[in-house]
Amino acid sequence: MTQKKWKENFIRVKPYEAGEQPKSGDAIKLNANENPYPPAPGVEALLRSVKAEGLRRYPQADGADLCRALAAEHGLDPTSVFVANGSDEVLALAFRAFFNSKKPVLFPDVTYSFYPVWCELFGIACRRVALDGEFRVRAEDYAGENGGVVLANPNAPTGIALPLSEIEGIVSANRESVVIVDEAYIDFGARSAVGLTARHENLLVTQSFSKGRALAGLRLGMAFGHADLIAVLGAVKNAFNSYPVDSLAAAAGVASIADGAYFAESAARVIATRERAAAALRGMGFSMTDSAANFLFVTHADADAAALFAYLKERGILVRHFAFPRTERHLRITVGTDAEMDRLLEAVSDFLRKGRSDAV
Ligand SMILES: *Cc1c(COP(=O)(O)O)cnc(C)c1O
Repeated sequence: MTQKKWKENFIRVKPYEAGEQPKSGDAIKLNANENPYPPAPGVEALLRSVKAEGLRRYPQADGADLCRALAAEHGLDPTSVFVANGSDEVLALAFRAFFNSKKPVLFPDVTYSFYPVWCELFGIACRRVALDGEFRVRAEDYAGENGGVVLANPNAPTGIALPLSEIEGIVSANRESVVIVDEAYIDFGARSAVGLTARHENLLVTQSFSKGRALAGLRLGMAFGHADLIAVLGAVKNAFNSYPVDSLAAAAGVASIADGAYFAESAARVIATRERAAAALRGMGFSMTDSAANFLFVTHADADAAALFAYLKERGILVRHFAFPRTERHLRITVGTDAEMDRLLEAVSDFLRKGRSDAV
């Protein structure tokens, strides 16, 4: 066999691995931080009213209507808002747009595992900054020279939210680089940094319709920041794909924003269930980080996380286990409905009981 020379020119990237999609329809899916409740009723109404005829046309190139709705919601000018296909695309474009120095981009060693994937794909130097022993960001670690900073707030998979004052401290300490704050989970109790973008020109805040607004399948994400940042993001987007957000997604996004009360109520239900499940798991001997997100990051001194993961899967309950040195003793469990969490708690309790009876 002769070696095919052209294969030497293939890019070698290790892709991000998303939580698996269950094969059976009745699995309890607590592994991708999806919302257990449906999107706002206005989204359903909008989709029912859609005429296929309109799809002959290309969508708005810059998602202007959606940007305007988001700007109005946040009291910003539409030139401070950018939209794309999910915050993953927003973030990928932002990495490409803002991280072009030779200095390394900083992000925590335990965080959203897509960040190093984009760095590799785009050839961006990066350095992982260790969280402290309690998985907390130490703001002072992000003050040194760098080519940019990326922080998920609340962080994933820990759920820990950094106070806004510390976010602002990090932004102020980095006047020479862009700081991206990824607020994919901001809807579940933490305070947003969007308001800080008015006085910090180097701050880009990204958010998503996937988690809080229950629209993961629609693929909509957004960024807020100074008009200069947004303009560069737009240029990079238009250098790659001039029509990123499709017309259906854009219209459904606008409908979702119009239904603010529903959104707040469904987030409040998730938060209430999170606190109830957290208390129940603590009662079984688990410890966990203080989550301001729609998931719990839990560990148990007497339970092997990989074994519990496998046991839950056998019982039709999918959660997430990250087999890296600092996270291998933990499971990340998405907050589902109360009924789903009851099934989870029952299975976990059975697992612990089984462990104890095996031991005697
Ligand atoms: C889910 C998630 C995203 C991506 O969300 P999409 O808008 O669905 O692309 C980005 N960052 C973090 C930390 C996430 O957990």
